[in-house]
Amino acid sequence: MRHLPALLLALATAPALAQPAYDRDAIGRIAEREKCRPFPGVLRSGGPPVRGFDMKYARCHWTLDPAVRHISGSVTSWFTATAPLDAVVLDLSDSLQVTAVQMHGAPVAFSHGPGDLLTINLPATLPAGQLDSLTVTYQGQPPTTGFGSFATESHAGVPVLWTLSEPYGSKDWWPCKDDLNDKIDSMDTYVTVPLGNRAAGNGLLMGGDTTGNQVTWHWRHRYPIDPYLVGVAVTNYQVNEQYAPIATGDLLVLTYAYPENYNDAVNGATGLLPTITLYDQLFGDYPFAREKYGHAQFNWGGGMEHQTMSFVGGYWPEVLNHELAHQWFGDKVTCSSWAELWLNEGFATYLSGLAYEHLAPVYWPIWKRGLVNNITSQPGGSVFCTDTLDQNRLFSGRLTYNKGAMVIHMLRWLCGDSAFYAGLRNYLDDPALAYRTATTADLQGHLEAASGLDLTGFFADWYTGEGYPSYTTVWSQDAAGAVAVNLSQVTSHPSVSFFALPVPLKFFGPGGQDTTVVLNNTVNSQSFNFHLPFTVDSVQFDPEIWLISAQDVVTQVGGPGAGPVVLLHPNPATDRINWHFSAPVQQHSVRVLDALGRPVLHNSAGAQSLDVSKLAPGQYVLEVQGKQGLMRARFVKQ
Ligand SMILES: [Zn+2]
Repeated sequence: MRHLPALLLALATAPALAQPAYDRDAIGRIAEREKCRPFPGVLRSGGPPVRGFDMKYARCHWTLDPAVRHISGSVTSWFTATAPLDAVVLDLSDSLQVTAVQMHGAPVAFSHGPGDLLTINLPATLPAGQLDSLTVTYQGQPPTTGFGSFATESHAGVPVLWTLSEPYGSKDWWPCKDDLNDKIDSMDTYVTVPLGNRAAGNGLLMGGDTTGNQVTWHWRHRYPIDPYLVGVAVTNYQVNEQYAPIATGDLLVLTYAYPENYNDAVNGATGLLPTITLYDQLFGDYPFAREKYGHAQFNWGGGMEHQTMSFVGGYWPEVLNHELAHQWFGDKVTCSSWAELWLNEGFATYLSGLAYEHLAPVYWPIWKRGLVNNITSQPGGSVFCTDTLDQNRLFSGRLTYNKGAMVIHMLRWLCGDSAFYAGLRNYLDDPALAYRTATTADLQGHLEAASGLDLTGFFADWYTGEGYPSYTTVWSQDAAGAVAVNLSQVTSHPSVSFFALPVPLKFFGPGGQDTTVVLNNTVNSQSFNFHLPFTVDSVQFDPEIWLISAQDVVTQVGGPGAGPVVLLHPNPATDRINWHFSAPVQQHSVRVLDALGRPVLHNSAGAQSLDVSKLAPGQYVLEVQGKQGLMRARFVKQ
């Protein structure tokens, strides 16, 4: 059910490009796939270590056969009591069977379930600050939650097994403390599989020991890791090693590919090398430089950012860039609650755009315009996720991914490049956040410190607030060159009455002259006056696509070059909207567009009045096609 469609196969088998090819469907595909993850419906929130202990280390022994949906093994967890501790509570699916729990080599009492909880009663109270360990031995058939936490399929007739735990699926296949805010400080995994298979894992491969017809692959990871970022995949992988130049030396880039896709995989990894160098330069050292970055292939149409070893369904540049970006945003610094998932996904999406900006700039404006069009295709929705129990909302491509990415882009516009990148590097390197978790307030604090700005209003409008502005720009220029501009806006959602933003306008004159003026728009219907040394022919709103806005209208009034404008009344309207023109116009046709740009009324006659009584309340644009061109004006239906 998740085999690649023909188009994607064609993309996956295309020769490697020196620059990443623009992939217009990649974002939607990533979001579609990520939203299909298992979702048992548990809301986790941020905070200090809960349950009275802090995870320090895990040593996992797993026996897996990709042809069989089954796991057996043991997990030894080292932890420090943060308060006097009588019992250790771990997350583990009730579908699995715990055969023993041992502490100091002796069995200890436990109860398993209901509610996927494993409660281990310690033989004696552990004092606060004390480090200790216990080992859980278990086996069974992992449950099928969502469609990815523990999957067995095949490729080219060969069995493949993979895990994909985000957001709540870790307990489906191993006992852990599944809490975003308690990363395991380091871990070793020993994965025993039938001879002929390789196991992909987190960290550095320490070796493979063959015993009889089985081989045990040992992966060692010496960085803090959240349980949902732990991944294992098993099949007859063919391995490729390359190196990416980064500030601290050469980074091992490891590829575990299906043999039948080996060449595509190597080309994909080669194409990613400049992006690794780019992100390393922009956002500081690759976070896991002492180990590696890698890809392991699985049967998805998207990817998953398992720490140091992303699982990818193919080798599309935008997906590879997205999962790589997560190593900084998501893995090194993880959202502290799923409600703030944009701290992972908004950044990963934005960084895939930055790869276009720096490495394939022809696609950069197309990419931004595509995001804005998607974001403004509906009037509401916040970046902040108000309902993490709603799978479609949590992994919403429009809100968590795309709006999150464009909100980051607008923060760059507000802060300027220097403060923006400095603030992000400080956020990533903050000892309280690095290799830990962060909140949106942490991000805001670092950007404010770097820029000197108060971003409270911005985050209220764009993070918790909903919707976007639609601007009307009315401008004129007199014979002496004095330019007057009036900026007004209507908003698409009542949660925000006005979006305060610096607004760029590009003024074009004869002979290829142009200049861009940034207006600090702080109130609605604000007037600006300045001088331009050339006669302005036309004005372009937000020429470089810094802002989320839609249905913007630019109108010239007065002046020698101004054409006629359409004037509406009454506005707001209830039953009828009437109009006339500032100069004689030969009117061909009239239509009314709703807030999403969809035509809702037409009038091909010469009448200058329309019945709007049946329109839903909201904002509309009246568009007149006349002999002199297109004229637009905005009105509100009450
Ligand atoms: Zn992602």
